[in-house]
Amino acid sequence: MDVIDLFKKLLSFPSITPDDAGSLEFIKEYLKDFKALWINREDTKNLFLFKKFGSGVHLCFAGHIDVVPPGDGWRSDPFKPIEKGGKIYARGAQDMKSGVAAFLQACKEAKDFNGTLSILLTSDEEGSAKYGTVEVLKHLKEVDFLPDFAIVAEPTCKDVFGDTIKIGRRGSINGVIKVFGKQGHAAYPQKAINPIDKIAKVLPNIAGVKLDEGDKYFAPSQFVITDIRAGMEVTNVTPGVLKMMFNVRNSTKTTKDDIKNFIEKNFAGLDYELTLQVSAEPFLTNKDSRVVKVLRNSIESVSGETANYSTDGGTSDARFFAKYGVDVVEFGVKNDTIHAPNECTTKEEVKKLKEIFSNVIEAF
Ligand SMILES: [Zn+2]
Repeated sequence: MDVIDLFKKLLSFPSITPDDAGSLEFIKEYLKDFKALWINREDTKNLFLFKKFGSGVHLCFAGHIDVVPPGDGWRSDPFKPIEKGGKIYARGAQDMKSGVAAFLQACKEAKDFNGTLSILLTSDEEGSAKYGTVEVLKHLKEVDFLPDFAIVAEPTCKDVFGDTIKIGRRGSINGVIKVFGKQGHAAYPQKAINPIDKIAKVLPNIAGVKLDEGDKYFAPSQFVITDIRAGMEVTNVTPGVLKMMFNVRNSTKTTKDDIKNFIEKNFAGLDYELTLQVSAEPFLTNKDSRVVKVLRNSIESVSGETANYSTDGGTSDARFFAKYGVDVVEFGVKNDTIHAPNECTTKEEVKKLKEIFSNVIEAF
């Protein structure tokens, strides 16, 4: 099997989160030379494969085998990959069975490595991500086998293959604020306390406001209001409570406490209740880390592109590696059709990605 055969094989498993649909068992057999460790939690299967070539560093390739549901609008069966005009169409073609196929093939073909090569695969990335990568890393920490470096093969490229690597990700903090007043008759506003009047004065100071200025790697953290509701859909009653929801995609410069202080400052004097929940921590890997440098050089030699450093987009499992102090970087094919109907990637990108990962293994 070459990397394209392997890629098509992986695409044919209907592995919708958290069901791996047998794909992990297939992969375990495909990499027979590697030792296998199953770390299964609840309804999620996770597979960790490793091979010790020497006594040097531990490099881990990581990814998810699960995909989002296909949805409507497909011109072909989303789990029967078809080739057309140099492209391969199927759910997961970009996100991220292309990346998984590329590093599996690169690891299988690796003859030599100055240390340990490992592969971490989960079937719970597109879901809650509670029983996936985070649990595997917890286990590896317990047995003292955490990698030194990790490459997550999520699709990162924007316009051309090779143009972007991710060296960090923004965090995500969700909030709910309830502003309390006193319900009343619209004809007697003086007898009521209308929370809509209260928040109207606050909104100009918070809606869309930047909480930091960002930096070279991060866009500014912005206070984004996602929902405001109050009232009973009538015109003669003013509400007693107003509920507002918001989200902040935060850089490493803004913390949960900063957001709490920001709310306290702007809501001073109001009767309110705040709930804040961190759904992901931001992180940034030093761009001088060996894994970033080696990967970037390999991208340049195979694709001719000089990759930009990025931290944008949603969250990914890379954040869990960062939390354990592992230098982590993300690189994969273009991401212009992820989660959409007729998801596809080019054969050329998959072949080049495999070449790049082979080069990385060699250069380490
Ligand atoms: Zn993904």
